[in-house]
Amino acid sequence: LLADDGSIAATIFAEMSALASATGAINLGQGFPDEDGPREVLAAAEKAIRDGVNQYPPGRGMPVLLEAIAAHQRRFYGQFVDPATEILVTAGATEALAATLLALLEPGDEVVTFEPYYDAYGALIALAGGVHRTVRLRSPDFQPDLDELEAAITDTTRVILVNTPHNPTGTVLPRETLARIVELAHRHDCLIVTDEVYEHLTFGVPHIPIATLPGARERTVTISSGGKTFNTTGWKIGWLIAPPPLVTAILAVKQFLTYVNGAPFQPAIAVGLGLPDAFFTNAADDLRLKRDVLAGGLTQAGFSITRPQGSYFIVADAAPLGFTDAVALCRRLPELAGVVAVPITAFCTPEHRPEYASLVRFAYCKRVPVLERAAMQLSTLA
Ligand code: PMP
Ligand code: GLN
Repeated sequence: LLADDGSIAATIFAEMSALASATGAINLGQGFPDEDGPREVLAAAEKAIRDGVNQYPPGRGMPVLLEAIAAHQRRFYGQFVDPATEILVTAGATEALAATLLALLEPGDEVVTFEPYYDAYGALIALAGGVHRTVRLRSPDFQPDLDELEAAITDTTRVILVNTPHNPTGTVLPRETLARIVELAHRHDCLIVTDEVYEHLTFGVPHIPIATLPGARERTVTISSGGKTFNTTGWKIGWLIAPPPLVTAILAVKQFLTYVNGAPFQPAIAVGLGLPDAFFTNAADDLRLKRDVLAGGLTQAGFSITRPQGSYFIVADAAPLGFTDAVALCRRLPELAGVVAVPITAFCTPEHRPEYASLVRFAYCKRVPVLERAAMQLSTLA
């Protein structure tokens, strides 16, 4: 967690966003949309502030949001959850992950994740005193090999931390893989924690919540967030769904992390979760178009890409352009092409970085003209 000189190491996103603002380059590094989300959601937050919803909300979350999350699970996944005992509202998915790992892990407990992995996983496992093991995702499809998954999960595994749709590769796990994870969790008596923040952002493949598979629910903590679905990443309203005893244990930690969070934003996210189906399909269709614009541009520019099935991100291999070190490339990209991106090695353990050395992550959750301009600028690299 610390840099070599003992200072706090900036996250890759902070470093790359700072580079983008210092150079004026187009920021395709950090994953946040450059447009506001639905009017109704923004208006609901403004109204809540005007109506005086500005003091500490209840510890588990405001009833209106808990009810909306339960209704959302019923509507999209046919899953019935008790809003009073099986849901906890958190400061984004990040706090849900932090409180969950701090609550579930004893020092030395093993957590298995995919690799590359969202950077917070490594840091949070370390903060909770856990031991991080990984199952590698490889190009071209970045799907896990089921035998490798089986070999990685043992009786010393405490938590399998799943992420689908996946950051940074955009991979969406199919039912067969999810079923194998559930079977392994049973065989080795471990818990499943699943990060599904991009649940509504898949393209032509369904998102299947692992908790809806037979035998999964009683050992699964499902984590999501309003940030990606409603273009409100700065509001930090997330939640988790789990069996009541797990929610109670995680709440015990959450109360000393943030206590409660985001009073006026909670009813607003509740409005978002209740929007008609068309909102959710349009959001995915809109993002799919953006994916295609950037995928086309990167291919044209000479990168070799894997077309993601979901999320905000696309992985591009810079090797065909003669760049074998993506870290060096990303540091120079603002000057070379006026674009900021993130090297995939930022999502890898040090020993596996060489395997991913030439890969770059680009975020396509940006307006089409911005993506077109980025594509044009990148075409000068060849
Ligand atoms: N998990 C994944 C996979 C993410 O990409 C992100 C990034 N936004 C988060 C968790 C954090 O979500 P939040 O902003 O709701 O804390
Ligand atoms: N989740 C976003 C990303 O992967 C940003 C999160 C952050 O800045 N911590 O780019």
